[in-house]
Amino acid sequence: IGHISITGVSKQYGHHKALNNVSLEIEPGTVTVILGPSGSGKSTLLRTINHLERVDHGFIQIDGEYIGYRLEGNKLYELKEKEILKQRINVGYVFQNFNLFPHMTVLDNLIEAPIAHGKLDKQSAIAEALRLLELVGLSDKVNSWPRHLSGGQQQRIAIARALALKPKVMLFDEPTSALDPELVGEVLDVIKTLAKSGTTLVVVTHEIGFAREVADQIVFMVDGEIVEQGSAQQLLNHP
Ligand code: ADP
Ligand code: ADP
Repeated sequence: IGHISITGVSKQYGHHKALNNVSLEIEPGTVTVILGPSGSGKSTLLRTINHLERVDHGFIQIDGEYIGYRLEGNKLYELKEKEILKQRINVGYVFQNFNLFPHMTVLDNLIEAPIAHGKLDKQSAIAEALRLLELVGLSDKVNSWPRHLSGGQQQRIAIARALALKPKVMLFDEPTSALDPELVGEVLDVIKTLAKSGTTLVVVTHEIGFAREVADQIVFMVDGEIVEQGSAQQLLNHP
């Protein structure tokens, strides 16, 4: 599971084309790294995959299901907000700025969504939270408050929180850009662990070393278009 299919997607803000006819196939269990200068549409592309942004043209499917739409006969009908929220559970999203709930402990941050969405009862949600804390190496922080954690630790908790909903795919929007340099490695290590576990990952980043080491596919965007696409070996080889 976790096949993402992006077909002819365009998105315009006013007169500005943020995405121009973008098509991309992302195979299940692979890591795709999106590179490109600031303003090239990387964030917008990620947000369309999660329907945080509505596309003007084209469509996106995850495992054959249309994002934001329901196929009936041969017609697409737009989903209602409630149905979109339900669909969004399948797509984990990690932002640059952690976005943990500041008034909740680490444990409550991790169990809130699975319980609210009726995915797990409280006991199972706690068990799952403890498993995820071990995965990100922060078992000792279970009762901590976000503000008492370093940026790197907060981001590892944010990753665990996204995983708690058992998404089919995980999207990362510059997950290490807001971190002090010495904390970048610990967050990338968690993402590498996920890559090995066979989760489909899409990562917008400027960390070329990470891309070279982990990416199955690299996509290079300029001005809302994919200008190059290939393996790390093809695109990032030293001359
Ligand atoms: P990147 O992630 O590569 O830095 P973005 O996807 O954030 O690029 O932005 C692509 C372009 O679309 C930029 O020119 C940006 O200013 C513009 N843009 C992004 N979001 C909005 C928005 N909500 N309203 C207007 N313009 C936007
Ligand atoms: P990043 O590239 O770090 O993701 P963005 O440049 O995309 O950050 O900006 C973050 C937020 O600001 C997004 O919600 C985006 O939609 C909005 N935004 C970006 N560019 C513009 C713009 N030119 N006009 C209005 N909103 C924008």
